[in-house]
Amino acid sequence: MLTHSDCESWTQFLEFAKQRCSPTAFENWLAPIRVSEASAEEIVLEVPNIFVQEYLLDNYKQDLCSFLPVKPNGDPAVKFVLKEPSKPQAQSVVIQAPAAAPISEEPPLYELKLNTLYKFDSFIEGPSNQFVKSAAIGVATRPGRSYNPLFIHGGVGLGKTHLLHGIGHYTRENHRKMRVQCITTEGFINDLVDSLRNKSVDQMKRFYRSLDILLVDDIQFLQNRLNFEEEFCNTFESLINQNKQIVITSDKPPAQLKLSERIVARMEWGLVANIGVPDLETRVAILQHKAEQKGLRLPHKIAFFIAEHIYSNVRQLEGAINRLSAHCRLLNLEITEELVERVLREMLQHVPRQKISIEHILKAVAAVFQVRVSDLKGTTRTKEIALARQVAMFLAKEMLSESLMMLGAYFGKTHSTILHACKNVEKLAAENEMLRRQIQMVRQNIEV
Ligand code: ADP
Ligand code: MG
Repeated sequence: MLTHSDCESWTQFLEFAKQRCSPTAFENWLAPIRVSEASAEEIVLEVPNIFVQEYLLDNYKQDLCSFLPVKPNGDPAVKFVLKEPSKPQAQSVVIQAPAAAPISEEPPLYELKLNTLYKFDSFIEGPSNQFVKSAAIGVATRPGRSYNPLFIHGGVGLGKTHLLHGIGHYTRENHRKMRVQCITTEGFINDLVDSLRNKSVDQMKRFYRSLDILLVDDIQFLQNRLNFEEEFCNTFESLINQNKQIVITSDKPPAQLKLSERIVARMEWGLVANIGVPDLETRVAILQHKAEQKGLRLPHKIAFFIAEHIYSNVRQLEGAINRLSAHCRLLNLEITEELVERVLREMLQHVPRQKISIEHILKAVAAVFQVRVSDLKGTTRTKEIALARQVAMFLAKEMLSESLMMLGAYFGKTHSTILHACKNVEKLAAENEMLRRQIQMVRQNIEV
């Protein structure tokens, strides 16, 4: 039987795991697991699908042993049961699907329109979207037989539509006999309005209810559309009851949608998967992929720079590439960091780091060597000041990409004085640990 303390150990495990994985991974893999039974000897976990079980054991087997009962062989004493999808009450869903004409003889009422760029191949994977991509591929490979419905939610521009169309492309190519339709929620509503006007509602219902795969984008637009909600729900149930595949995208998880309890519950039957904001590495990979598609040569350093500054949305990354590509092509320019800063200024999400200047260096040297900035620029020859000044020259040579001549001009000295100072500091530092540390401290203290 389930006891409070046993559940507590699962809660403690979850808290532990939460610190070690991304919020998206946690929400997708661990949060849906429920404790079904627990005793001092064994714990039974209810998982929504076999993948969650595999994920848990692949990634946390050792850690589970620290929190849960352990078998004599050292493995965690965990049993798994698959969550039964809660099917609708029979009486609540008596759907009279309009008598269907033999499907192959009826031309499709609505054409399947897919964005040719939104395929699985061009969807770059990273920790934030791996789970949802594999769920999408799972659904596309075995429609109606893996998770049904698949509900994908996440913020704007993170790839929901891309994956939805990816499923469309894949099924169209690999399950040629299946009838696939991909619509936006607005599109569904418009179809319904049109068919009401044309008195062809039956035909429309027949079309939607004869599909093998229905892909619905942006279900949040069904909120506050009461009349349409009911028809959508009926179509949904009719398809699900025949094991036809449904995939839905939304900007929020089902429970946060202002829709009837009935439809929210239906959408939670299958797998609810979150698509998160991609991490830095994934953003760099996305940028490079998009640049390649445009025939734009994007040095890794620049891709990294853009990815560091545009981080909340893939659509913006794409916008940045489009803009850069247009500029470079039009003006026949090489991509440099300066160009990126100029062309993308309004898009970069925090101010680009300023370049280190001579003033930054002087300030940091003055602080570490306990002298005044003016002393470093002056001609005082006391031993301490002369050394600090030479260190400033040495670091200026190291950190600024300026010629010796220019550096000489900053300090009011000749370029050979600068060169001499650099050599002297190198020699002294090689012999003097204290000086090495001071120089290191200056490097760390340079604030820009
Ligand atoms: P959403 O529907 O979540 O608002 P979209 O699917 O329209 O976002 O994606 C916005 C743009 O970003 C699209 O052009 C899409 O191709 C691109 N995109 C999003 N995620 C990825 C990814 N992981 N790999 C490649 N392109 C992506
Ligand atoms: Mg979209």
